[in-house]
Amino acid sequence: MRILVVEDEKKLANFIKHGLEEEKYIVEVANDGKKGLELAMNNHYDAILLDVMLPGIDGFTIVRELRNAGISVPIMMLTARGATEDRVLGLDLGADDYLPKPFSFEELTARLRSILRRSGPEKSTKLQCGDLILDTVTHFAYRGGKEIELTTKEYALLEYLMRNKNRIVSRSSILQHVWKHSFDPESNIIDVYIKRLREKIETDPNAPQLIQSIRGVGYRIREVEEKSNENE
Ligand code: CA
Repeated sequence: MRILVVEDEKKLANFIKHGLEEEKYIVEVANDGKKGLELAMNNHYDAILLDVMLPGIDGFTIVRELRNAGISVPIMMLTARGATEDRVLGLDLGADDYLPKPFSFEELTARLRSILRRSGPEKSTKLQCGDLILDTVTHFAYRGGKEIELTTKEYALLEYLMRNKNRIVSRSSILQHVWKHSFDPESNIIDVYIKRLREKIETDPNAPQLIQSIRGVGYRIREVEEKSNENE
């Protein structure tokens, strides 16, 4: 899950970033409104945490611009305490939720999960592919009932593959979603992480292989029929 945080208070922005990264989100930060709007317009995020009072362009204008451009990303406004009008205006402009400052990190993540669930095609917090289950709350994977611990990048990569189950995802879209373009497309970083994931989730040689390499294109995680049913 890729989150954009638009917040000019650098200490607060870093606190949110580090906290969310510990929860295995991929986080980008913009410290002013102009940069925030530009990033939100040109990249895919799963959610945006948006401060109201920002230098350059304020949070309300950003929501309005994004919605006018047809971008439906879930947005949670970070509002000053007591500013009821701000909350109403934000929601009217198309924000999904607001969080009054100061807030606890637990509340932030709970509300974030909630707007992500509401926006997602499925309400479940678990992704499934055959006997592989990925819990998007705890970030553990399970296969054949066995718990598998994943690193942040392993989780982000597996989540991206599973959200695109049975579809081929290109190397460049994997780089965009999981590594934020911080690697050259020619780099073998994806292959390294695919190998690590396979070593974790494909330990049983008798179980069907889930992650397929599509030569020259990318990867696909594939739902394999558990019971052989050749005629289907
Ligand atoms: Ca501010």
